[in-house]
Amino acid sequence: MSHSPAPGPGRRTVFRGAALASGAAVLGGAFAAPPLQASPVRIAEPALHTRAAWNARTPSSPVQVLATPPTNIVVHHTATANSDDHSLEHALALSRSIQNFHMDTQGWIDVGQQLTISRGGHVMEGRNRALPAIREGSQCVGTHVANHNNTTIGIENEGTYTGVEPTGALIDALVETLAWLCQAYGLNPDAIVGHRDFNATECPGEVLYGMLPELRNRTMGVLEAEGVQVPPHSQADPDAAPTYPAVPDDEPDHTFHHGPVRGPDDISR
Ligand SMILES: [Zn+2]
Repeated sequence: MSHSPAPGPGRRTVFRGAALASGAAVLGGAFAAPPLQASPVRIAEPALHTRAAWNARTPSSPVQVLATPPTNIVVHHTATANSDDHSLEHALALSRSIQNFHMDTQGWIDVGQQLTISRGGHVMEGRNRALPAIREGSQCVGTHVANHNNTTIGIENEGTYTGVEPTGALIDALVETLAWLCQAYGLNPDAIVGHRDFNATECPGEVLYGMLPELRNRTMGVLEAEGVQVPPHSQADPDAAPTYPAVPDDEPDHTFHHGPVRGPDDISR
C-alpha cells in the first residue's frame, strides 16, 4: 500500500545526534549507542493509527523510555485467527483486544508491543509513548521478547503464520514500517529478526519467519531508493545479540500466545 507523506515530526529534518542528546528520560544505560548517523530523515511515517484512534486505555504505570535506540527490530505474529476482515474497524478492535489481554490477563502495565499491523495492512501504535519515542530516536520499553525488551522494538502482525503466508497488504505495510524504523534508529535491515531468534518459541511462525530474508531485502530496497545512508550491521553488545534457541515442540496453542515475553533481565512489565 502506498501512503502520502505524513505531516509532523516524521517529515522534519532531524538528526539522530541531536535527538539522542536531548533524550530526557535516561534509564538503564548499560548499552552503548551505535555510531551516530548524520543522516536526515527521509522515510515518511506509515499512515499510523495512534492510541487515540483505537481508544487505548491509560497504562497502569508510567511506561519507561530509554535514550538508547534499540539494536533489533523483532517481528511477531499475534497468534490470533487469520481474519478475512481487513477493515480499519477490525484492526482497531484487534488493538483493543490485545491491550485488554495484556493488561487484564497478563498483568502488564500496557499493551506489550510498540506497533501492530493488521491483515488489512493497517498500522497501529502499541505501547504508550511508542510513536513519540520513535520520532526522537529513543525507545519506549515494551514487553514482547523475554530478557531483551530494553534493546528491541516489537511489531505484532495479526494472524498465525505457522502454515500460511500473511496477506500482501500486511507485508507491504510491514516493509514500509521496517524501513521507517531502520531509518529512524540508524539500523541496517540485518537488525530485523524474529521472536524465535531470541526466545524458545515458534513466533512469528515458520512461514513468516522464512520470509525474513525477503523482508530485509525489500526494506533495504526502500532505504536505498530513498537515498538513506545505511550503516553496516553491528551487534556491538553480545548480551543484546540474538541467541537462536531451539524452537519448542510443545508451544502452547491458544489465542495471543507467542512465546516468552518477560524474563529476569527485563525492567519492563
Ligand atoms: Zn512473538
